[in-house]
Amino acid sequence: MTPSTPLLRAENVVVEYGSRRRPTRVLHEVSLDVGPGECVGLVGESGSGKSTLGKAILGLVPVAGGRIEFDGRDITRLSGRERRALASDIQVVFQDPYGSLNPMMTVGEILSEPLSVGGAGRAESRRIVGEMLERVNLPASVAGRYPSEFSGGQRQRIAIARALVRRPRLIICDEPVSALDLTTQASVLDLLIELQRDTGVSYLFVSHDLGVVRRICHRVAVMYRGHLVEVGEGDQVTREPRHPYSRRLLAASPVADPVQQRARREEWLALRGDPLPDPAR
Ligand code: ADP
Ligand code: MG
Repeated sequence: MTPSTPLLRAENVVVEYGSRRRPTRVLHEVSLDVGPGECVGLVGESGSGKSTLGKAILGLVPVAGGRIEFDGRDITRLSGRERRALASDIQVVFQDPYGSLNPMMTVGEILSEPLSVGGAGRAESRRIVGEMLERVNLPASVAGRYPSEFSGGQRQRIAIARALVRRPRLIICDEPVSALDLTTQASVLDLLIELQRDTGVSYLFVSHDLGVVRRICHRVAVMYRGHLVEVGEGDQVTREPRHPYSRRLLAASPVADPVQQRARREEWLALRGDPLPDPAR
């Protein structure tokens, strides 16, 4: 069997912030693929560049070098119009379920907005909105209510429903459960897994939490100061990582069992003082 072509391919992607004369490089030639129906985790400490890679894929930050392909097509630099057209294929769910939904719009309006862009009629919009709400385990009747009437977990379900309405092939999930309590996290993760199984959508799943990505991701990439230092099978990377930085990240991630947690802490303390290899090497 030949391996299937990746849906998303990032090749040597470079992103720089700051002025043209004094740029700060935030992504250093990052290469990563996401296959159809695959969930690829992107982990790393805060500030390592995870969100920036997501933004580069979404066209929200300019790419200074390298190339991004979607379904074999170069999407590194698109016009505004081409970018808007691509929104039916690539969607995003952000971390903050409070800031990401317009408080002045009803849930029904929020969900039908992307549909009107796609040219759907009113009756069809209403039908799809109801269907999407049920998909994320909310009753269709919530369409008339406002975001402020919902809990964080319910809002995240609404954000997921909004991402789904145009039947995208890839969703960039940027810390989608990080703001939620543990029980709610688990149910939103289960929902994402179920949606992937049912629709075949791919996820690039950004998280700083190894436990979360272990649960949902097929493969995991580890980012350290703008470099991808390790990419591998989810179980391997989250349980027996190879790169010293990934090992430190694992040692720093909390576990529920106090005995294991004590062992983790010992390991973390032991690793803490070791100098890390230069990622640019
Ligand atoms: P992560 O999502 O892994 O926490 P980010 O991609 O948000 O990391 O940030 C990577 C680096 O880029 C950080 O050092 C951050 O301070 C910097 N950065 C992020 N956004 C901007 C911006 N708009 N302008 C300048 N620097 C930025
Ligand atoms: Mg981030």
